[in-house]
Amino acid sequence: MDKCSHCGNDIPLAEARCPHCALPGLFPNVRAAQDAKEVSALEDRYAQALATADSRGCRATAEEFGRTIMTTQAVINRPIGEVQRLANSDNDGYATYYQLGNSGVRIPAGDVWDRRRAATDDLLLPGYKDDIRFAALTLDGEGIWHYGECALVLKDHMIGHRASVFEENSVMFMQHHDIRVFDADTLPQGFRAGWEERQKLCVAKLAGKLMPGSVAPDFSHILLAQGAKPEQDEFVEVHIWGPLTRRTFDRVVIKKGKRRSAATVMLKALREKLREVNVPVEERP
Ligand SMILES: [Zn+2]
Repeated sequence: MDKCSHCGNDIPLAEARCPHCALPGLFPNVRAAQDAKEVSALEDRYAQALATADSRGCRATAEEFGRTIMTTQAVINRPIGEVQRLANSDNDGYATYYQLGNSGVRIPAGDVWDRRRAATDDLLLPGYKDDIRFAALTLDGEGIWHYGECALVLKDHMIGHRASVFEENSVMFMQHHDIRVFDADTLPQGFRAGWEERQKLCVAKLAGKLMPGSVAPDFSHILLAQGAKPEQDEFVEVHIWGPLTRRTFDRVVIKKGKRRSAATVMLKALREKLREVNVPVEERP
């Protein structure tokens, strides 16, 4: 629990504004990542990863990887139809999974992944899951193609203050760490970080995959690797509190091989709409 800087009362972690005086601009995910125990657990993992890299002769590579990670951006992949709606105007926002469900816009499929997602988010994002948009960290602008053929790369300036990073796909994290409902207040720590500390989390997670000769072009695939199935995608998850619009985009990257030819007309319209807000659309082979 933090003290409000304006009225001095306690603010519960899940609140985005002080419940007593309404001071706004608090981001529960960022506060969770800045918790002293989380920070210290991450520092330990980071120091351990650097020491191990040292013993393997790739300390310099790990440090270079960390510096490169500070140039990463958040990326959200969506189908072109949805991106076209977002591109339409400044008044079209990107809603979260739960907002769409609560408003009846989206009917949850009710499959096992929906249930796993809901249970995971209740544990990891207690009380504020409705406001979190999920993204991945990217070095080359390409995101996870399983979620759509358009990679929406977000501007640092628009999200850095309200973003935190998480070790991996959070649903898979629950499985990999064998976390059960009764572990709600003993979750493993050191697996989330504020935006400005993301290099520590990435070095802690990935230094073991670096080789003494690893160079910058290898880093993007060490950071983000497409799996054969969605549950095999490997990435660092980004949690962004609050709304996004086309003004939040830095650029849109579309992979040609992932695009159906029928979408050519849509792509032309998308380019024109995004030109209004100076967001380029890049096509990659
Ligand atoms: Zn207050």
